[in-house]
Amino acid sequence: MRAKNLLISLGVLTAVGLWINWDIVETSARDSIASAAGKAAVANLSGVVAGNNTRGLAAAELITLPVEVDEVSHGIFRASGVSNTFVIVTSAGNVVFDTGLIIQASEQIRKLKDAVGDNEPAKIILSHSHADHVGGTRLWSQGATQLIAHKAFEEEQRYLTELNPYLHRRNRTLFPWIPENPSTLPGLNFRGLTPDVRVDNNAPYRFTLGERRFEVHGMPGAEGADNVVLWLPDEKVLLAGDFFGPQFPQFPNIFTMRGEKTRKPIEYIDSINRLLKMDIQTLLPSHLEPVRGAALIRDGMLRIRDAVQFVHDQTVAGMNAGQSLDALMTDINLPEHLLLSQSHGKVSWAVKSIWEYYATWFHFDRTSELYATPQSAVLDDLAGVIDIEAALALIQRKLDSADPEQALLLLELLEGANPLQQLLGLRLQALEQLKARAAITGNDYERYWLESELEKYGTFYENQSEHPHVD
Ligand SMILES: [Zn+2]
Repeated sequence: MRAKNLLISLGVLTAVGLWINWDIVETSARDSIASAAGKAAVANLSGVVAGNNTRGLAAAELITLPVEVDEVSHGIFRASGVSNTFVIVTSAGNVVFDTGLIIQASEQIRKLKDAVGDNEPAKIILSHSHADHVGGTRLWSQGATQLIAHKAFEEEQRYLTELNPYLHRRNRTLFPWIPENPSTLPGLNFRGLTPDVRVDNNAPYRFTLGERRFEVHGMPGAEGADNVVLWLPDEKVLLAGDFFGPQFPQFPNIFTMRGEKTRKPIEYIDSINRLLKMDIQTLLPSHLEPVRGAALIRDGMLRIRDAVQFVHDQTVAGMNAGQSLDALMTDINLPEHLLLSQSHGKVSWAVKSIWEYYATWFHFDRTSELYATPQSAVLDDLAGVIDIEAALALIQRKLDSADPEQALLLLELLEGANPLQQLLGLRLQALEQLKARAAITGNDYERYWLESELEKYGTFYENQSEHPHVD
């Protein structure tokens, strides 16, 4: 199975728009609704996976796999799934870390309770507000559980909920198998959580339960501003949430294609520096498998930190030297000793993200950037004055010399022109070239985007062959 980098995207898939009074809804009723929704999702996605005819399948596969519980460290139990849910057992009550995707949560809870006993947890810690980490929170708690999250948790939860239709539409372009509309069943509402303890970035929240010591550290800049990790100082175990992304090590997602808020590079580096002060021997991420070995974990963290610092510093130096953003996106590449997988975060997109984090959207380049009239407004006029045959030949030459980026720029200028059929054919060629290149550089989101574009223009192409446009 391919690396499940898309998992993080599930973080925003299923916020709901319906608010009800949760005090009057029984946990068991919510559990039944969530459980039924989970079974329906498994049934639907089994067909999708068996058909194997769509992109972004890894998360779909993970939804269909049976949930399994294993003891990943002494007294720490993990329920597998799209996202892991952990239970840390103590003699004075249990601590839950992350509560999974709502459609898998009731199954995870049932199997974890089989392993550790049917007690209401003393505390639930949420690594961040993404949907695949908070889904089962209300199913675990009957009201006595203390909820611990970052002090920015509620604000992140607010904007993800408020912008859910926009985020859902974007996610669906990348992952076409997800439902067309966000669920509005009241039992599936997992938003609107209010933490009892809000963790600051400056000071960890420490507590002792039974024989175990716990430290919850605010670690912003990773999957948003509201990340926390759980450190068990005696066992030297770190429950990392999504701090490192779904694989370890990899270049982090400083930019998200689905369009979340900007992530702050310097905060991320600062967070890793604080993690480096811990002697982490076991890393338990909230996706996929544990990582073990202090040296391996330390080397990976150093490489991630130095890679982000390198990209940041090169971008800043280029800005100060008056170089254009386009040139920096091409020129900034990781040196040999900092090479990392870019399947999740892509360096050139990080360059653009860091640039716009500091300088926002006016690149101080084209005057037209300042005005609302888009390039597309003049394309019909342009089509009337160009030699279309010469333009088509020029694009074909760009494609023949394997320059799909220039071919695409020319095609985007010719959108108002006829014959449409040839233009669509050239665009499909350009997209195929870009997709072949993305397969080599290995960024999953780039591939998903290009596949969605190929699907869209492929359909136009077929419709055009059936009904050729005549001017
Ligand atoms: Zn996640």
